[in-house]
Amino acid sequence: MAIMNRVGALLYNICLFLTIGILFLALKNFNLEDPNATIDYSYNLKTLLLGFIWAYYAFGVALSIAALISKARKKKIVFTVLIIWFWVLMGINALFIFIPDVLQDQYTTAGWRYSIMMITMVMAFVPALGLIFHQFPGTVDRNYLIKQIKDKVVKEQTKAKSYCPECKFPSEKEWKHCPTCGAHFSD
Ligand SMILES: [Zn+2]
Repeated sequence: MAIMNRVGALLYNICLFLTIGILFLALKNFNLEDPNATIDYSYNLKTLLLGFIWAYYAFGVALSIAALISKARKKKIVFTVLIIWFWVLMGINALFIFIPDVLQDQYTTAGWRYSIMMITMVMAFVPALGLIFHQFPGTVDRNYLIKQIKDKVVKEQTKAKSYCPECKFPSEKEWKHCPTCGAHFSD
């Protein structure tokens, strides 16, 4: 991951792990020949799957906050589109998993729920990855750092332009005497 900084690489690995985990768990009970005949999980497996899904939501919140406070890049239209795209998919995902009562009967079967869960998770992986690459690339981070240092150097140069003629101590224009050697400044 040479093109991402540490935060980016960490977020990428968490995202990949959670997506694969949810995909694997959802496929475990999936009836490929007749999706409608897919049965619900046992209690333990369901708890594990829900744990993964909650972790994914928490990851989404963390990613969004990290992307918002990341100064690596300016927030532009791409950023907004990725955030909205990601959270719309998370919303559809939550609708099918937690509140299927509002859906028509045909969509509330285990087969439908697991299908939508897998599809939305895989689709949410794309904008999540987009956000990570857009906000945490190492090269942009480096440029930002260089700019910050440049600004600081310029600021310090303008701040301390004059020096004491006797001891070379950096002094302000309005000072009448040197604070270290006590020399009197003529102008
Ligand atoms: Zn001096």
